[in-house]
Amino acid sequence: MNFSLNDYLEELRPLINVDCGTYTVEGIEVIANHMAAKYEAMNGWSVKRIYCGKAGFGLEIRNKPDAEHIDVMMIGHMDTVFPVGTAAERPMSMDAEKAYGPGVSDMKSGLLNVVYALRNLDQAVLDKLSICVCMNPDEETGSLDSVDWIQETAKKAKNVLVAEAARANGGLVKARKGMANYKVIFSGKAAHAGNEPENGRSAITEMANWILAANTMTNFDSGTTLNVGVVSGGAGANIVPDSATAVIDVRFWDNSEYDHVDTALNGMTQTPFVDGVSITVEREAYKPSMVPSVQTEALMAVVEQSAQELEIDINWQEVGGGSDANNTAILGIPTLDGLGPIGAGFHSADEYLLLESIEPRIKLLMSVLTKLAQ
Ligand SMILES: [Zn+2]
Repeated sequence: MNFSLNDYLEELRPLINVDCGTYTVEGIEVIANHMAAKYEAMNGWSVKRIYCGKAGFGLEIRNKPDAEHIDVMMIGHMDTVFPVGTAAERPMSMDAEKAYGPGVSDMKSGLLNVVYALRNLDQAVLDKLSICVCMNPDEETGSLDSVDWIQETAKKAKNVLVAEAARANGGLVKARKGMANYKVIFSGKAAHAGNEPENGRSAITEMANWILAANTMTNFDSGTTLNVGVVSGGAGANIVPDSATAVIDVRFWDNSEYDHVDTALNGMTQTPFVDGVSITVEREAYKPSMVPSVQTEALMAVVEQSAQELEIDINWQEVGGGSDANNTAILGIPTLDGLGPIGAGFHSADEYLLLESIEPRIKLLMSVLTKLAQ
């Protein structure tokens, strides 16, 4: 591979200097057009646009579009977490070691590393592999409008590689916690706190009981944790509150333990602590946990061997945050994440991409694909 860091960074820049937070559909369209053009310029890749509702379009790119099976599915997301205006405020910049800017490592460089790997791979290797690259527009808010497409595609795949950034210490990701987010709405009955408090039904008292009940479901040992992170309610100190809302974040390693939590929270709506208060529970986001299986370990061994041959230092991390890797791992498909270049400071102005990691991580991806073709 003839690698020029300068050329790479000039190719990266237009992907950073555009606002493309989730649901900033015009910006994501710009990214999709750039990415589609790169694949269309390469020989033998078919580019399909996939409608993802209010999130806009995703891209599905294949070298054997008619093949039933997929040997390697690679996933990346085109959205960032940043609001409109961020690209103008802090466009891509760099110093001797790092590049900075919104999405520079989460995960525009991951998308670009996949392109570089596929551009430079031997045609003989490509001929042996059915490859599908999926780029979705809404990962940062939970892939709600792309998860069905991602999972339907993954069901045809033997292996999934997600090109989110490698960790600052070079680590790749073999396990990710699952997460769910609930909005719980309490509806009671208002009454004057002085004249007739006995006629009121306090939504806040009900919510307080829920908070305590949620806390008792936390198990730090197994890693199932509930956090009531946002609450609101009431209209004044002299009124028995008729409304309250709580947002609960749940994290877990064990998917069946999470199922119990989900059942318990929904069940609690049937038996309110305060007679006369009604409760609705809305699950606003959900990602199952990603836990390595025996097949995942075989895929890890391939990556380890490649890293060893290239003298790249890697390690395996278990991390708390979710990605699209969770959505494919739950289907039982060997899935690894962190195959992009090294970066850190995600979702903040400190986000950076480690320049010296770009080329080695492209080579790592190429080596893994080459081994999977054997
Ligand atoms: Zn990401």
